[in-house]
Amino acid sequence: MDCIFCRIVSGEIPGDVLLRNEHVCAFRDVNPVAPAHVLIVPNEHLTSIESLAADDSELAGQLLLAVKEVARLEGISESGYRVVANTGADGHQEVQHLHIHVLGGAPMRHRLG
Ligand code: AMP
Repeated sequence: MDCIFCRIVSGEIPGDVLLRNEHVCAFRDVNPVAPAHVLIVPNEHLTSIESLAADDSELAGQLLLAVKEVARLEGISESGYRVVANTGADGHQEVQHLHIHVLGGAPMRHRLG
């Protein structure tokens, strides 16, 4: 399978990696839309949130805990940040490997909700 994020996880191609553990990998987005823009991916190839199974609860938790750790590493824990997981066609998901965007370092332009 030719998946760009699997290749970053494996180290086959370089990424600006902030965090790696047995569950997840976090690296800076190559095309940032905020001063801090980091992607968190599961090491295992899962297409999207829709691919998570009931017994993936540990991985789901690890992804969320990685968000908090990435915010700390980026120095945006206090100022705040936005977390986005584009999913499927209507979500405009471009890369078919589950990923969570962590966006911060400036106020988000649009208020959601
Ligand atoms: P989306 O699937 O719409 O959530 O967006 C995929 C994101 O992956 C975009 O923000 C891209 O800029 C980013 N991206 C694509 N290729 C790379 C790469 N090689 N390294 C880091 N980020 C990437």
